[in-house]
Amino acid sequence: MGEFELIRQYFQPLADKARQGQLILGPGDDCAIQRVPSGRDLVFSVDTLVEGVHFPPNYPPEYLGWRSLAVAVSDLAAMGADPVCFTLALSLPGAEPEWLAGYSRGLARASDAFGIALAGGDTTRGPLTITLQVHGTVSQGLALRRSGARAGDVVCVTGPLGDAGAALEFLGHTAPTEDQQAVLASYHYPEPQLQLGRALVGKASAAIDISDGLLADLKHILAASNVGAELDANSIPLSDALVALKGDEALSLALSAGDDYQLCLTIPDDKLAELNSHNRNQLTVIGRIQSEPGLRVANAETLGFRQGFDHFGRSD
Ligand code: ADP
Ligand code: MG
Repeated sequence: MGEFELIRQYFQPLADKARQGQLILGPGDDCAIQRVPSGRDLVFSVDTLVEGVHFPPNYPPEYLGWRSLAVAVSDLAAMGADPVCFTLALSLPGAEPEWLAGYSRGLARASDAFGIALAGGDTTRGPLTITLQVHGTVSQGLALRRSGARAGDVVCVTGPLGDAGAALEFLGHTAPTEDQQAVLASYHYPEPQLQLGRALVGKASAAIDISDGLLADLKHILAASNVGAELDANSIPLSDALVALKGDEALSLALSAGDDYQLCLTIPDDKLAELNSHNRNQLTVIGRIQSEPGLRVANAETLGFRQGFDHFGRSD
């Protein structure tokens, strides 16, 4: 199968479903064309996934299709943006129909779920590597950044943490238990928090998506905003499945394991109250921003975090 036949068969159908008036020209020309409405800013981001580095060798292609687009779109959610379109650069060892059918099926499901259309791409032969560039828009000047956190803001997360990290040890299991299936779903099918991201625009002072672990990613907000924070380990949301599977280790996974793609955000009290009055509250308050630099975690003594432990001082 040649390059163009491959694109026509597996990827053109995703582009044909483009329902976004903002994508004026999709695949097939030298460039795609996106029109950015007046009063909106274009936000964009690129992510590369390498087999054996970002996903396991022989990872099921349908999961990979969903996951590769979901983790890229999660960056748009963290900025409060509406997804518009994406490009797909595929490096493939060969044109394996079964792999291509699975991958494009997962990708199509994600593309439908997130409302983002395939605009074009590049197809080459080489080690399995997937690069996606995602484009979205947000009201001019209102994109959520990492740099706006202020002392006194509360720190929130959008959902339970640690499940995807726990899933890694069960990836190869042929007959996972119900709890194992629950955490595996978080790894295979991450859900970018687009709706909450949009709701946070004009309200949250800073946001980031949790790809590397809560502590590591919150530290990016603290550094960019030049502030510190204290978290209460007792308030970190944990799923029932995670607690059942990992017991005392659940909290440590929730603090330090990645791949969950929930958002971590900071918000002043009054804006949080406003948000809660409009939305069914899905935010969990886990701590507060302080002017003193550093990240302190209360009630995590069992993990070896002293009360008032300055996480910046640790070499991790
Ligand atoms: P060029 O040589 O001008 O860069 P290509 O031959 O690489 O063009 O690609 C031809 C067309 O096919 C382009 O419009 C490109 O966006 C599209 N395309 C290539 N690979 C993919 C892919 N994996 N998914 C979607 N569109 C693709
Ligand atoms: Mg090209």
